[in-house]
Amino acid sequence: MNSSEATAPPKKVKVDAVVIGAGFAGLYAAYRLRGMGLSLRAFERGQDVGGTWYWNRYPGASSDSESWVYAYTFSPELEQEWEWSCRFPGQAEILRYLQHVATRFDLRRSFDFGTRVTRAIYDDASQRWRIQTDQGEEVECRHLITAVGCLSAAQVPTLAGLEDFNGRWFHTGEWPHEGVDFSGMRVGIIGTGSSGIQSIPVIAREAAHVTVFQRTPNFSVPARNAPISAAHRATLKKKIMEIRETCRWSTIGQPYDWRDVDALSEDPTALRRQFEADWKKGGFEWMFGSYRDLMVDPKANTLAADFVREKITEIVKDPDTARKLTPQGYPIGTKRLPLDMGYFETFNRDNVTLVDLRETPIDTIVANGIRTSERTYPLDAIVFATGFDALTGPLTRLNIYGRDGEPLAAKWSTGPQTYLGICTHGFPNLFMITGPGSPSVLGNMPTSIEQHVDWICDLLGHLEATGASLVEPTPEAELVWGAHVKALADATLFPQTDSWYMGANIPGKPRVFLPYIGGFGAYRKVCDDIAENNYEGFRIE
Ligand code: NAP
Repeated sequence: MNSSEATAPPKKVKVDAVVIGAGFAGLYAAYRLRGMGLSLRAFERGQDVGGTWYWNRYPGASSDSESWVYAYTFSPELEQEWEWSCRFPGQAEILRYLQHVATRFDLRRSFDFGTRVTRAIYDDASQRWRIQTDQGEEVECRHLITAVGCLSAAQVPTLAGLEDFNGRWFHTGEWPHEGVDFSGMRVGIIGTGSSGIQSIPVIAREAAHVTVFQRTPNFSVPARNAPISAAHRATLKKKIMEIRETCRWSTIGQPYDWRDVDALSEDPTALRRQFEADWKKGGFEWMFGSYRDLMVDPKANTLAADFVREKITEIVKDPDTARKLTPQGYPIGTKRLPLDMGYFETFNRDNVTLVDLRETPIDTIVANGIRTSERTYPLDAIVFATGFDALTGPLTRLNIYGRDGEPLAAKWSTGPQTYLGICTHGFPNLFMITGPGSPSVLGNMPTSIEQHVDWICDLLGHLEATGASLVEPTPEAELVWGAHVKALADATLFPQTDSWYMGANIPGKPRVFLPYIGGFGAYRKVCDDIAENNYEGFRIE
């Protein structure tokens, strides 16, 4: 950059809408907004499209939703022409899909890649947002649409001595694009959430030795990934509309739902048979297509938890390792249930060691490894599978300032306040795709995303049609929604557990259940009713 460029005032551009993010949400938002004839600028900090699947390139990263539902539905042609290879596609295949979508619908031309939004400021006088980027540009827009994902703000814990470590370290959510060759290395992996549970078996097959540092043992159920047979593919293509319609109205945006039976009223032999059959089938259905009282009745939940505990004891050969791996003291499913491809089996390998951090906590990181209260584990690399500042983190880190310069982070300092998880009072014409207070992470993400984008676009269409320029939820509607979201969560077992759903993984984060747990179909109906009722709860002028 020469000196005249360095001192040049920012370029100023005016558009109807700005979108932040080029993952599933941002791409579809760009597609719809362009289709409505709105002028658009879109920004993405990565060098290309993909979002979650651009950043999470860790070994073993794959979808936990079946490929045939983990996809867009807006284009029947796209649906018919794209062929998934298997039930749970890996990161590279999903990224290829999103790249294909971007190319097929010519979406990249709306995006500035490698560009981070550094600030968004609402100007009450002009009723416009001013968006600033790290490329020195300033864009004015009427509508600001965030498509920044729910799990995109990576969290590396503060551990003494990390700066002294002589090896390389990585966070699963910010994985090097060139990949990492672990062969011959001693690798330490911290964290046993979904990212750890997916990556540990794969890294263990490659590395000389893997040491897993586990704080809380996790439940996990088998994914049972497999190629899609020709016959299955043909059925899927024929039935895709039906499958998608079921997803749209189901509890978690999947083509199944809770069975109309309580585990507690089921005959024990039948219950066992059912759990076994679902275990063999694999996937989330084991829990979320199962007995309807599992997540609300502690006794029912224990039946499911005990089944998985037994499986761990059966699979893991060393009794002490099995004991350490067995979750106790919190209901199954209240931490996001991982799907695995041989996770527990991995601890039968000679080159895998489990360290229980509850028994021997990490003392410090040292130049050659990790020192616990018991001993030092020599390591060449450390993988942090330690999660994210979920749902609120990606938004509060954007530096969004609403009316009167109020920072979003300040407004949400005691927990997020939203209406429908889409808008927040004091921040007119800000639309959050899968924001806190919406089903988002409790549903199949593409289903959640399409519903939000479609609903937001309908609202923008309503503004255009009525000549209105401003939309903002009333403080009353927001309060009522917040209380509703909380009441729904409190009727379940979820708030009992320390999880990222509760913000418990981030030091100092308020303990609030973040997503809407009333079910995706029920939520869709609420959104539809509000729209039909002249956007009840919003001030539109
Ligand atoms: P996570 O579920 O938050 O798990 C983080 C893990 O790191 C936990 O085991 C946690 O232990 C541990 N940890 C955090 N800080 C620690 C510290 N200071 N010392 C020791 N251990 C520490 O994160 P994640 O595995 O990245 O998954 C986050 C979410 O992303 C998932 O739940 C899922 O929704 C999504 N995801 C989806 C997929 C998929 O669909 N295929 C794959 C990966 C991730 P504690 O339990 O004790 O806090």
